[in-house]
Amino acid sequence: FGGIVKEPPMHIVHIAVEMAPIAKVGGLGDVVTSLSRAVQDLNHNVNIILPKYDCLNLSHVKDLHYQKSYSWGGTEIKVWFGKVEGLSVYFLEPQNGFVWTGCVYGCKNDAERFGFFCHAALEFLHQGGLQPDIIHCHDWSSAPVAWLFKDHYMHYGLSKTRVVFTIHNLEFGAHFIGKAMAYADKATTVSHTYSKEVAGNPAVAPHLHKFHGILNGIDLDIWDPYNDKFIPVPYTSENVVEGKRAAKEALQQRLGLKKSDHPLVGIITRLTHQKGIHLIKHAIWNTLKRNGQVVLLGSAPDPRIQNDFVNLANQLHSSHSDQARLCLTYDEPLSHLIYAGADFILVPSIFEPCGLTQLTAMRYGSIPVVRKTGGLYDTVFDVDDDKARAEAQGLEPNGFNFDGADGAGVDYALNRAISAWYDGRDWFNSLCKRVMEQDWSWNRPALDYMELYHAAKKY
Ligand code: ADP
Repeated sequence: FGGIVKEPPMHIVHIAVEMAPIAKVGGLGDVVTSLSRAVQDLNHNVNIILPKYDCLNLSHVKDLHYQKSYSWGGTEIKVWFGKVEGLSVYFLEPQNGFVWTGCVYGCKNDAERFGFFCHAALEFLHQGGLQPDIIHCHDWSSAPVAWLFKDHYMHYGLSKTRVVFTIHNLEFGAHFIGKAMAYADKATTVSHTYSKEVAGNPAVAPHLHKFHGILNGIDLDIWDPYNDKFIPVPYTSENVVEGKRAAKEALQQRLGLKKSDHPLVGIITRLTHQKGIHLIKHAIWNTLKRNGQVVLLGSAPDPRIQNDFVNLANQLHSSHSDQARLCLTYDEPLSHLIYAGADFILVPSIFEPCGLTQLTAMRYGSIPVVRKTGGLYDTVFDVDDDKARAEAQGLEPNGFNFDGADGAGVDYALNRAISAWYDGRDWFNSLCKRVMEQDWSWNRPALDYMELYHAAKKY
């Protein structure tokens, strides 16, 4: 029939320790939710198994109810079920206190806690007689699933199941990751360029034959400037100028910045070495020098870095109170207003497996200014330098980028960006419209994952 082979639906189970928006720390949480939704939209069955942390944001869980309990590992494990963003989620709550720690990460025994969770999740599948086609595990925190499955559970009646492992960030737990790479049937990471950058890493190098780069996408329902309760005027690419003007004013008002039309640079990030802290600081001062405004939303897991930024905030809030605001916290609603109200979103990462902020920025018509690394390189094409590279992807250039890891590098991109804003507002506005119309959703990546899942089944 026209060459279309209809595949039966697959059953995919994610075992993960983060899930947006109920237990999100970084991009991993976003990916678990939005990849699952995209695959479910292709008519496959998707479940997620997540720890039932005491700090879950339960307001986003529909119909949460207790289902049953089972014994494993010397404790009772309660199973709860609920819907999150339309996805069926099983929450595991071991009564030994491993998930009653007030946080996702940050305990001394995280490896032990998550190892226990992985084992408990496989036990849950086994005891419940569930036989998914694919178990998908993520990063070091659910890496143990790969070897526990192959060493044990595969032999307990789960023989048709295959394991897919995704590296979201190789910086964390490379030791665990190497072992999961060896055991998984297929492995991925979150952009083509990052897959090349880590190909020489001893955790990855022996396994290149089953290792693929698949770009992350963003969830168009969760990030939608036309339907976003945190911004004042709904907008599409048709009324992007009006929508962003209103958002910028609301942002300035909320943060006590001067309500005037200046180029506004937004930064939304974890404040860690990976994110290019020295470049962020340099860019803040340069933007102020160019008479722009800066809003930074970020928090640092390392108290020394947090403290350093508190000092910088105090300094800037007195010397440049009209122009700069550093919000040193995690605030999802505020992030929406910044994506909408900023002219530019700066992402000067030292390395970046995929990066979601530059994609979300474009969805809201903000122009990404990024360092050329990993997924930033694969998604941001410089308006001056990358015409041919963009064309090869069937795209038009969409931002500003730079090489190098010093002030001169970031200046090269940021100065051109700010000058473009001052010198040609019509051109700049048309660029905002253009980036909004580019598709950085899961539409394409979800198909790539389906292809990979099918290939894993044949493995
Ligand atoms: P990473 O996973 O390395 O932190 P990503 O760019 O892949 O980086 O994902 C970061 C995600 O976290 C984005 O969705 C971004 O909007 C969000 N985010 C980062 N910092 C904050 C913050 N302080 N407040 C709200 N959201 C944040």
